[in-house]
Amino acid sequence: MSRTVYVNGEYLPEEQAKVSVFDRGFLFADGVYEVTSVLGGKLIDFDGHAKRLQRSLDELEMKNPVTKDELLGVHRELVERNGIDEGLVYLQITRGAADRDFAYPDGAEPTIVLFTQSKPGLAESPKAKTGMKVISIEDQRWGRRDIKTVQLLYPSMGKMMAKAAGADDAWMVQDGQVTEGTSNNAYIVKGNTIVTRQLSNDILHGITRAAVLRFAAEAQMQVEERPFTIDEAMGADEAFITSASTFVMPVVEIDGAAIGTGTPGPVAARLREIYLEESRKAAI
Ligand code: PMP
Repeated sequence: MSRTVYVNGEYLPEEQAKVSVFDRGFLFADGVYEVTSVLGGKLIDFDGHAKRLQRSLDELEMKNPVTKDELLGVHRELVERNGIDEGLVYLQITRGAADRDFAYPDGAEPTIVLFTQSKPGLAESPKAKTGMKVISIEDQRWGRRDIKTVQLLYPSMGKMMAKAAGADDAWMVQDGQVTEGTSNNAYIVKGNTIVTRQLSNDILHGITRAAVLRFAAEAQMQVEERPFTIDEAMGADEAFITSASTFVMPVVEIDGAAIGTGTPGPVAARLREIYLEESRKAAI
């Protein structure tokens, strides 16, 4: 069935949705994006995603073509029109179409595109029961990973390296320390302490990360925001990732070595449960 998508103010069947070949998103990856999950037909942490979107746009001196309220309206309309119960809303804003030149153009109108992806069973993912396998790879991305741009080629290459190795994802390593997963934030657990890299330009400031660290603190778990190595991860009791589309997902193997018992641990399971419960309550 054809989806209804949103392009520059119009709701269109996906076959009719078009963007210019001169769009700077296409030519320069000059665009930013957000992915908001949908549970029970409602948006999870829309506010956090809208705030991070504005921050990404500000860092790139890009105009925001919509207000936060308009954006919420478009998200809801697409969820409704496409009958999404569990899934995702993808949003992308680019600097727009202009004659090709490295300098930012004057007066280009931003392009805004939103579409939905239906993912029945997102919350009940079987991977949450079995856990994921990751490999480690060198982090070869650019230095402003805090800006959520659409230049995702290295993360795509990382996913392919993981796939070739029979794993589910890759954790990226810079100067011997884990930065994050290809599309998620990375955590290890030792005793009652959760360790995850501190916020900086080296990682994306995950919206799920912020919520999970808040819930962890409320549940009296200790959190250390600092870098960790693959060796430390291999000696941890548990590991997990977070992202808007996977929530909290246990990691049971790194580079072929089992972590802890080699099965999903209690801290990740508990955080996933709390995250899903609290997010559903706060969904809009
Ligand atoms: N890091 C990277 C590199 C990502 O691509 C993502 C997901 N877009 C995340 C972390 C997780 O962020 P969020 O929890 O906001 O989905």
